[in-house]
Amino acid sequence: MKVTLVGAGPGDAELMTLKAARALGSADVILVDELVSRDCLAYARTGAKVIEVGKRGGCRSTPQAFIEKLLVRYARQGKNVVRLKGGDPFVFGRGGEEIEALRRHGIEAEVIPGVTAGTAVPAALGIPVTHRGLARGVTFVTGHANDGTQPDWHALARSGTTLVIYMGLRNLERIVAGLETAGMDAATPACVIENGTLGGQRQLVATLGTLSAAGFEGPALIVIGDVVRFARCAAAENAARAA
Ligand code: SAH
Repeated sequence: MKVTLVGAGPGDAELMTLKAARALGSADVILVDELVSRDCLAYARTGAKVIEVGKRGGCRSTPQAFIEKLLVRYARQGKNVVRLKGGDPFVFGRGGEEIEALRRHGIEAEVIPGVTAGTAVPAALGIPVTHRGLARGVTFVTGHANDGTQPDWHALARSGTTLVIYMGLRNLERIVAGLETAGMDAATPACVIENGTLGGQRQLVATLGTLSAAGFEGPALIVIGDVVRFARCAAAENAARAA
């Protein structure tokens, strides 16, 4: 009996780790998130049971408690269980909650980290999330909170770090307003990247003041900071989107 939380990487299946591919190859049961590219499952053993457990914000999804129940059930049956999650399981992936739930049942899970969207998706546009002289760090923050609370925009605006906002598309206007009110310059380079590293990747490279969620359906990241100046083909892409 074994449960492994596995990071599938940001989208492009080739960005999954060798260790993740190996874990998939020896799994009896794979519980897979909606965000995970189906190409990753090519590494699964023929005959492995694949269970789709969608968790896309706002849409119908399998309740977290039920996912945890399934993990425990299959582990107790002596199965080799892989819980395949988008990006890294411990970055906005609820991996910690699943580890705790398993622990409550006396099951110690292993974790195979993955490449998080927060670094890989900007990189797909040529954007380094840190850069000497431009960004002394990077802050990963969620743009969506169940309890409706807001991040400390003042602290973020003053941080001198690149802001990488996960799950922020639907709150984009509120995020922009929060940062501008906190004193961030509306001319700060900013972008939205949808389906990063995948065939359907689309992006809007703009500034904080001109950023817009129009036309995007997600999953998308918002990146704010001077490093966004590195974005490749920004002008051409924007023109294509506007056409
Ligand atoms: N554990 C994942 C994040 C899960 S939260 C990780 O480490 O990457 C889901 C959010 O991640 C999405 O709403 C979106 O903001 C971001 N995301 C994940 N994959 C993405 C992709 N290919 N392109 C753009 N954003 C992505």
